[in-house]
Amino acid sequence: MDDSLRELYQDVILDHSRHPRHFGPLPEASHVGEGHNPLCGDRVKIYLLLDKANRIADIKFEGKGCAISQASASLMTDMIIGRTVDEAETLMGGFLHLVKGEDTELTGDDRDRLEVMAGVSAFPMRVKCATLAWHTMKLALEGGEAAKSE
Ligand code: ZN
Repeated sequence: MDDSLRELYQDVILDHSRHPRHFGPLPEASHVGEGHNPLCGDRVKIYLLLDKANRIADIKFEGKGCAISQASASLMTDMIIGRTVDEAETLMGGFLHLVKGEDTELTGDDRDRLEVMAGVSAFPMRVKCATLAWHTMKLALEGGEAAKSE
């Protein structure tokens, strides 16, 4: 592993990949989506439970794959639980810009927490790993079946 790649795998990412938050099935889920990143072999399944106010009352995920894909799913679930669907999609937009190395709308705590993923922008293959969970979350909200990361 060279230095730039080692830097990519920061402690926060390793911690999330080894001890994922909100991991497991959610039988009462109202929305479910499955995603696959064929370039890396990552798989993720997102379960969401929305309340009447369109707020994400609960979210869980299952999956397997590289550290980046699983850490990103863990971090995402931790950050969007309790938010409305609109807020989650806004956060997703900012995250996609961040990991592509573009100007991002993220600010404050959101930016601080997601910044650990910014390093993937230098590794186009890893961007797909980092965005898989987010695309799958959006797909689940749209009622779809299978997401592909882009
Ligand atoms: Zn991956």
